[in-house]
Amino acid sequence: RDETAEDPRETLREVFGFEDFRPGQKPVVDALLSGQNVLAVMPTGAGKSLCFQVPALMRPGFAVVVSPLIALMQNQVALLQSFGAPAGMLHSGRTREENVADWKAAVAGEIKLLYMSPERLATERMQAALAKADVSLFVIDEAHCISQWGHDFRPEYLALENLKTLKPGTPVAAFTATADEDTRADMVERLFAGNVETFVSGFDRPNLTLSVEEKSGPDKRIEELLHERRGQQGIVYCGSRKNTENLAEKLSAAGHNAIAYHAGLPDEERGERLNRFLSEPDLVVCATIAFGMGIDKPDIRYVIHRDMPASPEAYYQEIGRAGRDGRPAEAILLYSASDLMFRRRMIDDGGAPEDIKRHEKRKLDILSAYCEALTCRRNLLLGYFGEMRTEPCGKCDVCIDPPKTEDATADARLFLEA
Ligand code: ADP
Ligand code: MG
Repeated sequence: RDETAEDPRETLREVFGFEDFRPGQKPVVDALLSGQNVLAVMPTGAGKSLCFQVPALMRPGFAVVVSPLIALMQNQVALLQSFGAPAGMLHSGRTREENVADWKAAVAGEIKLLYMSPERLATERMQAALAKADVSLFVIDEAHCISQWGHDFRPEYLALENLKTLKPGTPVAAFTATADEDTRADMVERLFAGNVETFVSGFDRPNLTLSVEEKSGPDKRIEELLHERRGQQGIVYCGSRKNTENLAEKLSAAGHNAIAYHAGLPDEERGERLNRFLSEPDLVVCATIAFGMGIDKPDIRYVIHRDMPASPEAYYQEIGRAGRDGRPAEAILLYSASDLMFRRRMIDDGGAPEDIKRHEKRKLDILSAYCEALTCRRNLLLGYFGEMRTEPCGKCDVCIDPPKTEDATADARLFLEA
């Protein structure tokens, strides 16, 4: 157990200029300072980098940070250097001299964070060199890349399996935003052989109100919903290009400022519509999932799903675009059993291997449980992402207006007495 006299908050303030840790960051920092292995699951934007950068700056030696893309390494290293934090990197986009210089600086204690690709870490030369060096911790960013269940499996990451035994006593920290249970179990096994403390946090978006409605005559209903939200900006996700166009047309006819957006539009048209979205404060976008990547507009007040999303992860990401400004925002899902059946059929008819199909169907089961929830919807969603809560949120539709359930015990009693 390393004794560090310093307070990580001081490092946070002095180096990065931030007042305090966000909820969820401090426990990870503390665990790494005390030399434990850590798996941290936190959504995108939650602040995973600081969780390892602060301990890396405080512990003796240098941290080895594995990152899947050169662009990500460059970004992080440039950012660290702008804070005056000594960081370097080894990758194929630099000259041999530059790489050697950074390696020597790390060994000499002049660099506290050394970024490199998984391929480079896997070479015998690097492993031999690291075995002799004073490494403070191994960090694996985007760690879900090691699992075939994750969305971006990278075979190079499999070489990281031997980090478990490379330097006993040096903590290994893995970070990811992918919270799916199978992926997590796979990471725990491959990277840590089970010897790890897992932290899951930061999935809640308290200003988002969640609700589900039975879907019937969806376009008409959406018109009503928008009528009550006139003047606000929103997104209505649809399952097909045709649905986005039909809906946008009906909404426009009803006097709403609405457009369709999908990947079938010419690039120029897409750019234009995106610009309208960014500049017109009351525009409703009827969109396929092609609309979203990189959409970071703070004042989106609602996200409505006309059709069933593909998975709980997709749903979480899509509704996460609402209320980035922290003010109240709504996520409304229109639910029908036949949408679910359609999704199931798509999986069956797709050419994926059986175990992948099972995996995808389980995700649909979770969505269906979310739609038919009899207890707090927010807790159900957060629970799926590993964040367990017992206190109902008090703000979702189930909490506000609990569904009437039949008293089965009373029925059973009558039956027995008859
Ligand atoms: P992630 O890797 O989880 O997607 P990042 O580490 O890139 O997220 O951080 C996202 C943003 O949050 C960055 O701009 C970062 O500076 C900021 N951030 C992280 N932690 C804090 C904090 N404690 N206080 C203020 N800003 C923070
Ligand atoms: Mg990150």
